[in-house]
Amino acid sequence: MSYQYKWPIYGHKNLLKFLQETISQDKLANTYLFYGPRGLGKKLTVKYFAQSIFCEHQENRPCGECQSCRMTAKNSFLDLYTLGKDQDLSVENIREFLHKLSMSHVSGEKKLAIIYGIDSINLYGANALLKTLEEPPRNTTIILVADSIVNLPATVISRCQMLKFRPLTSDDMKEWLENFDLAAKEKQTVINLSFGRPGIALTMMEDDLENFKKSCNFIIKLLSGSTFYFMQKSINGLLFLKKKILDPSFMN
Ligand SMILES: [Zn+2]
Repeated sequence: MSYQYKWPIYGHKNLLKFLQETISQDKLANTYLFYGPRGLGKKLTVKYFAQSIFCEHQENRPCGECQSCRMTAKNSFLDLYTLGKDQDLSVENIREFLHKLSMSHVSGEKKLAIIYGIDSINLYGANALLKTLEEPPRNTTIILVADSIVNLPATVISRCQMLKFRPLTSDDMKEWLENFDLAAKEKQTVINLSFGRPGIALTMMEDDLENFKKSCNFIIKLLSGSTFYFMQKSINGLLFLKKKILDPSFMN
């Protein structure tokens, strides 16, 4: 089916295209693992991916207007199951969630289960989950979301289609910052301080935009003024001394 998508998400172009194609081609994997540091847009992508799976319209998916879109947005859509937003991932919660998922009927064509913060799962929870990943309920796709996969058991990881979220490029960040009323230098400072993570930039700006702008201007002044020149000179001097002390032949 040729669907058209409208996801207001910046960066991650290949990843978004891949997800949209899997919906169009009806080739959803059994389990996805969305991972990458906080603030990159993983939850936003899950939201638009989930809504687009269930949307009733062909164009501008998710349309935001059909009944499926409205119910998915309210988290009350019958075929959508979520865990980890307001609950912890205790083994009891995991088991209850998976039991509900396996016992429920599909009211439409497929069920979607999303587990947020999967990196906080303990070994017992991971074992319970593993059984479901090995034998997924029919017509069910599971999305696991993690800031880091360092502590996730390899047995869980190996069952997932991995989708790594990377920091946005400077150009993507610039495009995203077009949505905010900031001067060019302020935008550049946001880019420098947020390391390609819009979520981090948003937190900095939302706290207090005016104060944030003042801090930006202070940093701009500091970096462009003689202070920075002096700091750099001092560091170079120290490095020179360190090298000299460690290697007396350096001066010869
Ligand atoms: Zn819709």
